[in-house]
Amino acid sequence: MILIDGKKVASDLKQQLKKQLEPHIAAGKTCGLAVIIAGEDPASKVYVRNKINSCAEVGIKSFHYELPSDVSEKEITDIIEELNANKDVYGILVQLPLPKGIDERKILSKIDPQKDVDGFSPFQMGKLVLGEKCFPSCTPGGVMELLKYYSIPVAGKKAVVIGRSNTVGKPMALMLLKQNATVTVCHSKTENIGKIAAEADILVVAIGKPHFVTADMVKDGAVVVDVGINRVDGKLCGDVDYENVKDKCSYITPVPGGVGPMTVAMLMKNTVDAFLENV
Ligand code: NAP
Repeated sequence: MILIDGKKVASDLKQQLKKQLEPHIAAGKTCGLAVIIAGEDPASKVYVRNKINSCAEVGIKSFHYELPSDVSEKEITDIIEELNANKDVYGILVQLPLPKGIDERKILSKIDPQKDVDGFSPFQMGKLVLGEKCFPSCTPGGVMELLKYYSIPVAGKKAVVIGRSNTVGKPMALMLLKQNATVTVCHSKTENIGKIAAEADILVVAIGKPHFVTADMVKDGAVVVDVGINRVDGKLCGDVDYENVKDKCSYITPVPGGVGPMTVAMLMKNTVDAFLENV
């Protein structure tokens, strides 16, 4: 079994992005990423801090807006409009969840689709569905980078994705399809999920249920990618019963240290790509 080291892959990717940016920064250009956070969600604050630190590592300039929980929709959209017009800002990210009473869809729809480095807008999602070049949403995009880094073949393989959220499961299935996998998507209403999972050459799990995938659900030699992040007795764990599954796999991602570090790295990649396309 080979353990997929997301920390190393993310770190290598950030170093590579830094090198790509360096000559442009030396020439006086700015590659900016704006992050807007509203309210007091502690997990969001940690994510935003990680994003700011990663920006510094890569050489991206952070534009950071921390807004109170009673902020109005208008105040947020005014900031987004200002950032849409700012030529130094190539990516805009609104950290979710937003405070109660704020229409998240409405806010996200105000971001210039060319600056939607999170890949959540209907424009970027539409491009993904059409198989066109797009900003891949960061978590499933990160999974594809991991598969590429470890030279894991995807074309012609049977891939099963458990979970169909707009942010992970659905774009994940589309990305695997684009790479010519034969893809099955499972969700909470799927019957015989264990039997379907056990046929997968590549099994991606993104549901948020600790230890959901047990050894009998995994084919010998399968590649298992665990996107889940759960906390059990104060300890982080994924959606896969890692201890009992790992020896059946050819490759497996641990939690933490697997997919997690890739999400922020992919945000950096999408921002640098946006910059390089438009600079
Ligand atoms: P979500 O929006 O809550 O979606 C969960 C999906 O799982 C839904 O499609 C749901 O099916 C399905 N599901 C729930 N229970 C199931 C069951 N018993 N059997 C089969 N399918 C089931 O969650 P998400 O945002 O996609 O996140 C999933 C997990 O990934 C969470 O643990 C989250 O913390 C983690 N995550 C990690 C990262 C990272 O950077 N590593 C990023 C994002 C998310 P229905 O559609 O039928 O309800």
